[in-house]
Amino acid sequence: MIQLIKVNKHFGPLHVLVDIDLTVKAGEKLVVIGPSGSGKSTLIRCINLLERPTSGTVIVDGVDVTAPRAPLTKVRQSIGMVFQQFNLYPHKTVLENVTLAPILVKGVPREEAEATGLQFLERVGLKHKAHAYPSQLSGGQQQRVAIARALNMRPKIMLFDEPTSALDPEMVQEVLDVMISLSQDGITMVVVTHEMGFAREVADRVIFMDGGQILEEGPPEHFFESPTHERTKLFLSRIL
Ligand code: ADP
Ligand code: MG
Repeated sequence: MIQLIKVNKHFGPLHVLVDIDLTVKAGEKLVVIGPSGSGKSTLIRCINLLERPTSGTVIVDGVDVTAPRAPLTKVRQSIGMVFQQFNLYPHKTVLENVTLAPILVKGVPREEAEATGLQFLERVGLKHKAHAYPSQLSGGQQQRVAIARALNMRPKIMLFDEPTSALDPEMVQEVLDVMISLSQDGITMVVVTHEMGFAREVADRVIFMDGGQILEEGPPEHFFESPTHERTKLFLSRIL
């Protein structure tokens, strides 16, 4: 579903991704961990070309998105993204937030977008807030709306970049629960997170990044029971 081949990213003198090779299979749940500044966000932003790699190839669902004239708009529609900041439109209701992109970008008829939107709001436990405004919701609720909004584009891939990092502690679990439920659907998920309980429960594979490289990868048990690299051990000892 996703393949990165020798991907490099430079920001001026900074070499932020170094020869990244990574394959994510359809339906796979990949968790990305690593210290701040190690390139995790840049890595996942290269998947939907929010960042363009300086060199290397990114293939998404069979399409080389790094090729000149790649059908980026179409590929991006198949990739949902959830950020640390929820970025809901403050002057639109929850349901409007969830239906806007399918209607405007994909040309889905309003009635249909609203019907599926309500289903996804129900899925994240917020159907009863369909006509509320974002400011009337808690952070955890806003993030669940952001997930429903991404889902209403019917993506094949969901990218999550530290989706719970901006939340008050008591709201983290409600968002993780939605993500856990989503993981049972067969959708391909790439999740940057420091929530190791989530990684343990959901991940098929965990990668540890440091200095723009994938230093270590394996099933979650490997990470928690027998990490190989000193830097992985040190990182885990700090966050666990
Ligand atoms: P992480 O998500 O692991 O914290 P990032 O991918 O956000 O790491 O950042 C990796 C490095 O790239 C950091 O040193 C960061 O300051 C730098 N960086 C990220 N985005 C930009 C940008 N748009 N311009 C310049 N430097 C950037
Ligand atoms: Mg980041």
